[in-house]
Amino acid sequence: MSPEEFRELGHRVVDWVADYWSTVDQRPVLARVQPGEVAAALPASLPEKAEPLDAVLADLDRVLVPGLTHWQHPRFFAYFPANSSPAGVLGDLLSSGIGAQGMIWATSPAVTELEQVVLDQLREALGLPESFARSGAGGGVIQDTASTATFTALLAALHRATDGGARRAGVPPGRFTVYGSTQAHSSLLKAAMMSGLGEAAVRAVAVDPTTQAMDVAALREAMGADVAAGLTPVMVQAAVGTTSTGAVDPVAEIAPVAQEHGAWLHVDAAWAGVAAVCPEHRWIHDGVEHADSYVTNPHKWLLTTFDCSAFWVRDRAALVGALSILPEYLRNPATESGAVVDYRDWHPQLGRRFRSLKLWTVLRSYGLEGLRAHITNGVRQAQHFADLVRADARFEMVTDPVLGLVVFRVVGDDQRTMDLMEAVNAGGTAYLSHTKVEGRAALRMAIGSWQTTDADIDTTWDALVSHLS
Ligand SMILES: *Cc1c(COP(=O)(O)O)cnc(C)c1O
Repeated sequence: MSPEEFRELGHRVVDWVADYWSTVDQRPVLARVQPGEVAAALPASLPEKAEPLDAVLADLDRVLVPGLTHWQHPRFFAYFPANSSPAGVLGDLLSSGIGAQGMIWATSPAVTELEQVVLDQLREALGLPESFARSGAGGGVIQDTASTATFTALLAALHRATDGGARRAGVPPGRFTVYGSTQAHSSLLKAAMMSGLGEAAVRAVAVDPTTQAMDVAALREAMGADVAAGLTPVMVQAAVGTTSTGAVDPVAEIAPVAQEHGAWLHVDAAWAGVAAVCPEHRWIHDGVEHADSYVTNPHKWLLTTFDCSAFWVRDRAALVGALSILPEYLRNPATESGAVVDYRDWHPQLGRRFRSLKLWTVLRSYGLEGLRAHITNGVRQAQHFADLVRADARFEMVTDPVLGLVVFRVVGDDQRTMDLMEAVNAGGTAYLSHTKVEGRAALRMAIGSWQTTDADIDTTWDALVSHLS
């Protein structure tokens, strides 16, 4: 395919995406296929001869689209939003076309330097502390996901706790402990598994039954008991916006407890953090100035096509110390001068995409005003939905709404709540997911797509009411 052919076919692909976005609300949100159905409808082997793009697009429409759950559907309210905005897609396309590998500064200086600059700008826009700025000892990096960010935070914490011993000799079994609330994201457990600490190292700290936020007294007690037993607390994770109910752990109160035992404080704000672009939501970052690391995902609620997870550390030396490598084939004068950042040393993998171009395209295309309007709109729609729930005696709120997340249930038996969710999801109008709060079933309505209108909220409410048995 020559650049000229690409130009023509590229226009058609852009048309396909624009048509998809403008008609996606006419499709059932949730895929309606049986396991194996998509695979069975695909050709078994690769073609010997080149096929035209038309053949690929035809199979996309015929086989794949019916097997999709439409995450960009305006009534996709399950899990958390995964915004893929027009600006995000265009920025991603530019990055793909350039195809640069930014593993070290020298392999494409602009890849590294744009990432440094845009993360400093985003840090400022979210009201995150100066200590994360690259002008001091800190810095930011784009990771693929929050899970990877949390894993690297744990590796940096272990590096600090062992004076570098972890990278040389591994971690001694049964010595280190990690803390998160019972509501901490599963990626914390996975990080412990991957780091070699093992699941047994993770302490699930109790939460306040009403707010679902970490009980700091329980944290203090758990850490004290472990230290008394001769163990070393290596990391505490505070959640700003838990996955289940959006609970915000009291970071400012957790910080001194972590500090007292020399534990690294990592803040997981994967979903909620970007809301701090609005001054009225900046309270969620109270206490983050004491954190050693922090992650939020522009690929969730901030209009940036997956993947793009923004991760900052206060002491980049701990992170780089844990992960630096310098094979002969990557030796170069810029690295040796110490004047540049080589992002290869900030995450598990070597190679890296030019993700900052996508993020920068989004941030500039919307401007801070546009970003704030997007967040504010989602929060307002969530408040409207919560009002509808509160006004209907057949439903009850489970927790107070947090930002764009409303957690509610049908009054009565848990089965009624689960039956209602299944009926609505099967009906195709909307897609909600569930959780358990204090052992009881609850539905999650996570709002935040740029395509969701007020009418979509009302339509979803109508669907819930009409399926209520
Ligand atoms: C979504 C989420 C994660 C995981 O995000 P990935 O980027 O998919 O790894 C972690 N923590 C919280 C609180 C989340 O909401």
